[in-house]
Amino acid sequence: MKKKLRKVELYKFEINGHTLALDVKKSRVFRIEDELTSEVIDLLNDLTPEEITNTLADRYGRKQVFEVLKEMEKAKIITGEDQKEEVSPPSPAREITALCLNVTYDCNLRCKYCYYNDGNPFHGSKIHMSENVAKKAVDFLIKESEDKKNLLIDFFGGEPLLKFDLIKTVVKYAKVKAQQANKRVAFGITTNGTLLTKNVAKYLAENKIGVQISIDGNRVMHNRARVFRNGKGSYDRVILNARNLIPKGSPFARITVTHQDLQFMKAVKHLLHQGFNGVSVAPASGINRIWAINGDDFKQLEQEHDEAAKYFLEKMLKHHEFVPFYNFTLPLRIIYFRKKQRYPCGAGLFYLAVSPEGDLYPCHRFVGIKKFFLGNLSSPFKNNRRALFLNNYVESKADCRQCWARYLCGGQCPYWATETNGDIRRPNEGYCELQQYILKLSLMIFSQIHQKDKAIIEKLFDPRHQPYMLNPDLEKTENNTEGLSSDQEETTNR
Ligand code: SF4
Ligand code: SF4
Repeated sequence: MKKKLRKVELYKFEINGHTLALDVKKSRVFRIEDELTSEVIDLLNDLTPEEITNTLADRYGRKQVFEVLKEMEKAKIITGEDQKEEVSPPSPAREITALCLNVTYDCNLRCKYCYYNDGNPFHGSKIHMSENVAKKAVDFLIKESEDKKNLLIDFFGGEPLLKFDLIKTVVKYAKVKAQQANKRVAFGITTNGTLLTKNVAKYLAENKIGVQISIDGNRVMHNRARVFRNGKGSYDRVILNARNLIPKGSPFARITVTHQDLQFMKAVKHLLHQGFNGVSVAPASGINRIWAINGDDFKQLEQEHDEAAKYFLEKMLKHHEFVPFYNFTLPLRIIYFRKKQRYPCGAGLFYLAVSPEGDLYPCHRFVGIKKFFLGNLSSPFKNNRRALFLNNYVESKADCRQCWARYLCGGQCPYWATETNGDIRRPNEGYCELQQYILKLSLMIFSQIHQKDKAIIEKLFDPRHQPYMLNPDLEKTENNTEGLSSDQEETTNR
């Protein structure tokens, strides 16, 4: 104990009656179950072990304090080595392994919060992707993925099923091309569900195409914004169509939560009850103040996530039922694998979007925004804008560098950041607070599950519940870190 004290970067917090500490750089989580341990952690920053012992001995006894310090040394909270901060940029895979094909700008719905309403000149226009552009995009993906084997193509729009024939052509073509190049290609589609007839559903299931349906809850919730051109709500059509797929395929539901109704849990429960394989909730963004989440809404969304966490834990611990709610399951995967997230997402790194004209953008949300144009299929990356995304790693940003959540978060969605603060590197504060809150809840859930029912953690990795929008190569390499062994998540209790 005489050696100079070096400690890992610990972040201690309380959430819903639990005290936890996160080893920030290694994503290890500790339950703090007594006051002495909690006080020792508070003093680690400023005092040596001797000074800590002297300070706390009167109240707790020297032996007790010594034991806690020893336990911390064993858990490598106190260490002989300095924990260095990453300073160099990561070497992100420059290969492109995932493409989002915007097969059309056209849509048969007029959702009131759609981001295309925010002055995007293409909204509802009849510009579709040609077969020639689509095939060129596949060739581009095969070439730009270099030696990477696992590829993903996501169909997006507008409403992509307006171009169902083109989708079938692309799937056929990409399978052949991938096979020739000794690669595997997976497919996904994000759809409003209105055109998901029995035939379409059969095709998607047969071709193992991951389906994400945008649906906002029950009839009242959904029809508030998701309407046809004539203003009529689309719920009845969508839910009927989703049932075409539910027995065979694996549709996921994506709920957009808006300023109009922040109580998303009712929607989550409704959609899980309908048989969806997983549900995620994302806040509506944009300049439309009637719909977009802003200011105090974030605080209310924290409360709603509290309710979600209670539901999640009760289902898992009391009923041994897994709840595929991605707002928690995705962070839980990161925590489980102790991944270090240095980027917010794959946009501009391994993932690009292709507009109907064949232009390249960092992701589907940036399509049509000139400032983020990255070239086209024949002449990609001629400008230097991709560097903006490659250099957008978490330690490089002033706001994120000091944030305890940085390696679980990876930084904010660059689209959100640019839309609210005009810069992909300047995260929106309200959204950060919500993100940090969700991460605290996820750490609490993880710690509870790990303490009470380790076996259920495995369910997080059941392929039936995996959203398709994951980079398969990235998953395989980065998840190859050590799994959780009994001494990797320690309890510093007494
Ligand atoms: S929560 Fe905000 S500040 Fe923290 S890492 Fe994420 S984006 Fe950066
Ligand atoms: S997180 Fe944001 S920038 Fe990244 S892919 Fe999603 S919408 Fe695009």
